[in-house]
Amino acid sequence: MGDVNRGAHSARKQAIRRKAQRRHSHFYDSRAHWSFSRNASAEPLSWSRERWILAGTAFFLVILSALVIPAWAGAMRKETVATALPRVNTDIPRPDVQSNVALAVVPLAVPRLDPASVKPLPPVETWNTVQVQPGQTLADIFVAQGLSMTDLQRVIDAAGGTKVFHQIKPGQEFQFLVNADHTLEGVRFDQDETSVATLRFTSGKAELTTQKRDVQRREHIAHGLIDSSLFGAASKAGMSNAMVLKLAEVFKFDIDFVQDLRVGDNFTVVYDDVYSDGAFMREGDIVAAEFINQGKRYTAYRYKNGDKVGYYSEEGRPLQGSFLRIPVDFTRISSQFSAGRMHPILGKMRAHKGVDYAAPSGTPIHAAGDGVVKFRGWMNGYGNFVVIQHNASISTAYGHMSRFANLRVGQRVSQGSTIGYVGMTGLATGPHLHYEFRVNNAQRDPQTVTLPKPEPLPAAQLAKFKKEIVGPQLARLNQVDNNTKLARNETAKNDGG
Ligand SMILES: [Zn+2]
Repeated sequence: MGDVNRGAHSARKQAIRRKAQRRHSHFYDSRAHWSFSRNASAEPLSWSRERWILAGTAFFLVILSALVIPAWAGAMRKETVATALPRVNTDIPRPDVQSNVALAVVPLAVPRLDPASVKPLPPVETWNTVQVQPGQTLADIFVAQGLSMTDLQRVIDAAGGTKVFHQIKPGQEFQFLVNADHTLEGVRFDQDETSVATLRFTSGKAELTTQKRDVQRREHIAHGLIDSSLFGAASKAGMSNAMVLKLAEVFKFDIDFVQDLRVGDNFTVVYDDVYSDGAFMREGDIVAAEFINQGKRYTAYRYKNGDKVGYYSEEGRPLQGSFLRIPVDFTRISSQFSAGRMHPILGKMRAHKGVDYAAPSGTPIHAAGDGVVKFRGWMNGYGNFVVIQHNASISTAYGHMSRFANLRVGQRVSQGSTIGYVGMTGLATGPHLHYEFRVNNAQRDPQTVTLPKPEPLPAAQLAKFKKEIVGPQLARLNQVDNNTKLARNETAKNDGG
């Protein structure tokens, strides 16, 4: 069996060798007429035939590379342009791409390549990028592009259910493709963080396509030592002001950043940034943090419990209070809670069973805590009114709203979500939020009532939280701490001489 195999193997080897010899002899035969090898011996020079062959080959290679390399390079560049074109086609024209095109065409003409093989470039589409300015409406933007309200309606209709056009925000971007005769060819917009939509109008028909973006969160670690201010320390550690505010927000129930900070306090933070298709999109969130304030250590870990993302201490205690003390950004308190006061409109003594927070009309009103919408509608003097039931005994009530947020009775709301907007509906002399905190349906002073402590994570969630979040993040925080301590000791040694 083995012998048969070996026999077949050597036969195959011989066949291959014979074939190679045949091919090579053919190669030499076909080149036998080449002059430099045949006349070499006739020359009076003492160079041997072999040397001539070597020199000739070298010369031939130089000529060949002189011819081939530019042609090859040109061909390569042409390739780059060809693949870049579709992108130019659907993108705003960039000057660097334009100049690339020009560079690529010139060397192509130098080597002996057929200029006819260079395809003419399709016309470059000019997409105008527009960034929404504060106070600008969608109509303003369309008018500025030379478009009509009919165009706007066509876009809104064709974009289907997307919320993008219902409420535009400053900084949001749109791209328009408009013809010289002001006909709208296309609109491009971010559908959400992870996808970009392109709406094309060709021969009166609208076509919507979406492209997924590669969204990533990239983490950073920063360590700061407070010598004058939190902002100073954080800035030295490479954090932006926005991220410092987020850090202060996370610990605001534990640390009073106005009164309690001391020189020597320090912090270590893991935070992330959001990248879309490799490009920075926005700052992310605090992932994990440790703050040493007056020698006391506080921790915060971002954790998704069910569908709610919040911060918890290492022991699984929620850092947020169970209730916001004040559910609106107010300018002043226009009326305190009182058992009896002169009503400004009714002109009679009347108890005021809530707090009035004056704020400009349209200021968002937030749910004070997690709960379920129990009432949404018109209620006598309260005007547009919302009641949220938080647990068996506690509810909160919000009056005089100019309008409601997208909300229905029975809907779950989470703490801080917008439930409506400040107004002066019902009996009100100016725009304000009338806010009530009710315990077993009796109003209590929202400013002084003892707010219930938040519930810690239940046992099963706590185990998951400790294993998946605290374990790995704490290791990172400790590593930075150790490195910093080492570095500080080194500095101390060096300073000491
Ligand atoms: Zn009131």
